[in-house]
Amino acid sequence: MIRAAGVNKFFGDLHVLKDINLEVPKGQVVVVLGPSGSGKSTLCRAINRLEPINSGEISVDGQPLPAEGKALAALRAEVGMVFQSFNLFAHKTIVENVMLAPVKVRKVGQAEARKMAMELLDRVGIANQSQKYPAQLSGGQQQRAAIARALAMKPKVMLFDEPTSALDPEMVQEVLDTMTGLAKEGMTMLVVTHEMGFARRAANRVVFMSDGEIVEDATPDDFFTKPKSDRAKDFLGKIL
Ligand code: ATP
Ligand code: MG
Repeated sequence: MIRAAGVNKFFGDLHVLKDINLEVPKGQVVVVLGPSGSGKSTLCRAINRLEPINSGEISVDGQPLPAEGKALAALRAEVGMVFQSFNLFAHKTIVENVMLAPVKVRKVGQAEARKMAMELLDRVGIANQSQKYPAQLSGGQQQRAAIARALAMKPKVMLFDEPTSALDPEMVQEVLDTMTGLAKEGMTMLVVTHEMGFARRAANRVVFMSDGEIVEDATPDDFFTKPKSDRAKDFLGKIL
């Protein structure tokens, strides 16, 4: 579903993605782990062309990523993205936040968009918060609203970049549970996270990045119990 082949990315002289080859098959959850600065966010951003790449190819659902224009907008609509910060529109209610893209981009009618938005808010467990403004919600609730908003575009894949790292500890689990639910429903997901429990339980594969390279690509069981590289051993030694 997501395929990156021979992807290289430079920021000036800094080589941040080094010949990245990665596949996320339909329905699978791939967790990306790695130390700070290893290129995890850049990889996520490259996948929907928020960040241009210098060489290589990225395709989503068999379609090569177009560089710009309408084709890019259409493809981006297939890729839902959830970041560390929630980026909800402060002056719109939660349900309005979720309705916005379907109405504007997919030209869905107001009534239908509202109905779909309420269903999604119910699915992430915050239907009772729909009339509030983002600032009136807890961090975990806001992040679940951000997930609902991404799902409203009916994406084929979801990218998560450290969705829980800005949350207070007691709110992390509710967001991870929402993501686990999505995974169980068969959503194709690429997840950058430091939540090792989630990686162990929900991931089909773990990809370990270090210094711009994919150093290991393994099942969670293999990665956590018998990492091959010194870099992965060192990383696990620090976090486990
Ligand atoms: P973290 O775990 O801290 O989020 P990361 O693995 O997501 O780290 P990236 O944000 O992808 O790392 O950054 C990879 C490298 O690229 C880092 O050395 C970073 O300083 C550099 N970098 C990222 N964005 C830019 C930019 N816009 N301009 C220049 N350098 C950048
Ligand atoms: Mg990052």
